Amino acid sequence: ASAASQLAALDASKLSITKTTTPKELTPPKELVFGKTFTDHMLTVEWTATDGWHSPRIVPYQNLSLDPSTCVFHYAFECFEGMKAYKDKNGGTRLFRPNKNMERLNKSSARIALPTFDGEALIKLIGEFVKVDDRFIPDARGYSLYLRPTMIGTQKTLGVGPPGSALLFVIASPVGPYYPTGFKAISLEATDYAVRAWPGGVGDKKLGANYAPCILPQLEAASRGFQQNLWLFGEEEYVTEVGTMNLFIAIKNKETGKNELITAPLDGTILEGVTRDSVLTLARERLAPKGWEISERKIRMADVAQAAEEGRLIEVFGAGTAAIVSPVRSISYRGKLVDCGLKEHEEAGEIALQMKNWIEGIQYGDEPHSWSYEI
Ligand code: PMP
Repeated sequence: ASAASQLAALDASKLSITKTTTPKELTPPKELVFGKTFTDHMLTVEWTATDGWHSPRIVPYQNLSLDPSTCVFHYAFECFEGMKAYKDKNGGTRLFRPNKNMERLNKSSARIALPTFDGEALIKLIGEFVKVDDRFIPDARGYSLYLRPTMIGTQKTLGVGPPGSALLFVIASPVGPYYPTGFKAISLEATDYAVRAWPGGVGDKKLGANYAPCILPQLEAASRGFQQNLWLFGEEEYVTEVGTMNLFIAIKNKETGKNELITAPLDGTILEGVTRDSVLTLARERLAPKGWEISERKIRMADVAQAAEEGRLIEVFGAGTAAIVSPVRSISYRGKLVDCGLKEHEEAGEIALQMKNWIEGIQYGDEPHSWSYEI
């Protein structure tokens, strides 16, 4: 047997729990701000190259203490996930397709020479963690407990190399609905002066290092009145994704005459969104029989603009865990505003509305579905 096979696997049965002696006061749900308040506890698991995964622990939420030379601070050995726990109508708690987040975290981690782990074991551990902090999950539609699994390299060294130790931790933050007063369609700036991701790069991994460089373009877009960047790629100006969401475009296809729902293909330049996959699957099941074509294909921004000019752009929306779907009113492109098909009084198109209702229904357990994981 190789040395690697002797390393301990992540083992949920070795979990120990130390409860806080100073429980926090709950923030009234209406006052919740995304990612500002955290629950009483956190899940942590250490990993070392010599022993593998150590015993998982649930401990009171606390600061990490790390030597200033720790590799995460210098070479960005960090990757993360974003997922949610939802209260169903029977008081039960559910995750949504957690296996997808585990797969993605393992891919991200492996890409930056951090350890991989048994996804099933981490889902079990997250379930135990969520049970311990269950009282923090607001019991109302649109509310949830945002979960942030994170992996960092913890080796103390300025040498550039694979970390010999790592820390996997999960923190949790109660959150309210993204659109507390109903949908509010957003406006995008098609961004050609900065590139988020490129073929052969790491834009398809959820690395912290992909996010910090996007803030400056986001501020620039905001200074011109646009909520998000629409990231274009290459001389063809292919539409890739938007801010921290995947993008869906519904057009009437000129050649086929059919309605077509389009999203960028998984070619390494976009994040493999769990919501993206859910929208595609539901669209193939529920929209294709009604005559819709569902396409993972490249589309140029100029073709989106042309479809709008010819009255063939039906609707555009972003898709991600935070909002489920986020309708788009307009896209600024080469000094013009591309109108994305919403009527003046409308804040969402029909497909976006349907998708939100379908996915939310599954997340909150109203519709029994294999995507909903009861903890
Ligand atoms: N693209 C990027 C760049 C993101 O950060 C996210 C959020 N994780 C998404 C897309 C949407 O992914 P998901 O549906 O898994 O939240």
